[in-house]
Amino acid sequence: MKVLVTGGAGFIGSHACRALLAEGHEVTVLDDLSSGDAAAIPQGCDFIHADLRDSLDALVGMDAVWHLAANPEVRTGETEPGSHYELNVQMTWDLLEGMRQHGVKKLVFTSTSTVYGTAEVMPTPEDYGPLYPISVYGGAKLACEALIAAQAGTFGLDALLFRFANVVGPGSNHGVTYDFVQKLRADPTCLEILGDGTQTKSYVHVADTVAAMVHASNAGLAGVHAFNVGSEDGIPVTEIANIVSDVLGVKPAYRFTGGASQGGAGWKGDVKHMGLAIDRMKALGWQPKHSSAEAIRDAARALA
Ligand code: NAD
Repeated sequence: MKVLVTGGAGFIGSHACRALLAEGHEVTVLDDLSSGDAAAIPQGCDFIHADLRDSLDALVGMDAVWHLAANPEVRTGETEPGSHYELNVQMTWDLLEGMRQHGVKKLVFTSTSTVYGTAEVMPTPEDYGPLYPISVYGGAKLACEALIAAQAGTFGLDALLFRFANVVGPGSNHGVTYDFVQKLRADPTCLEILGDGTQTKSYVHVADTVAAMVHASNAGLAGVHAFNVGSEDGIPVTEIANIVSDVLGVKPAYRFTGGASQGGAGWKGDVKHMGLAIDRMKALGWQPKHSSAEAIRDAARALA
């Protein structure tokens, strides 16, 4: 198939491109390099350096789109909420309209566990509801899921919606592991930890993440399907700090920001406890090879 990968120069996108090439697909990356890196695009991909919103002609002749381009930073919801609307909701809508006009009928979409908000059921299954996200990012991704489902119901579209846990691994460019490595490089004696340190979440290795995407894409599913992708355990932020410090060979003092006004969470909109039921992906024959701790350790090693 001819596959357009939006955001293919990014962290997950570059791994996704490598996996698609290995499956024998023709891959075109469309990326504006706002947070991606051209050097991360695997050899063998065509590359269009452009803003997706200005380049919907790139859809001509494509069989499928893997849509990863986004503002992936949950934390910026507090300071730049409009960016989540523009780069997640509006850009996904523009893409959907482009796909309709150019007759592209297959979509892989990278959604997020944050669509569940503060879920009362843990681990949270895909059919949990009602879905009330607590971050602008989560709300924007849920809006994207709704628009994709609506477009599929109205015009016909096969779409896979992947609700990722926190994805970590070689090449990561944001998130807690990346932040800790940067902070400890600047000051190995003291590490600032956002929140009270007890926030406990599922982390998934990027290799497992991309394997899940390929696996479900090869299952020949018609219509719209949501899949959680995470590891089955969770890990507290303080344990992440311990692992990163160990990998870097440092013993910093920890300084917690506390997050008292948001129940000990790291920032406004941070989900304090997250765990995903992954039975749907397991029923397709996929399961993660790394635990949360193993994924974090590998990510830290790659960044060290
Ligand atoms: P990333 O920032 O590395 O990748 C995003 C890519 O999109 C970048 O290469 C960026 O340059 C590109 N991009 C942004 N705006 C663009 C535009 N207007 N036109 C063209 N390209 C544009 O982030 P990532 O962690 O690889 O995330 C990839 C996807 O997975 C995102 O949709 C994100 O929301 C989703 N996701 C990530 C995680 C995670 O833990 N990393 C978790 C859940 C969901």
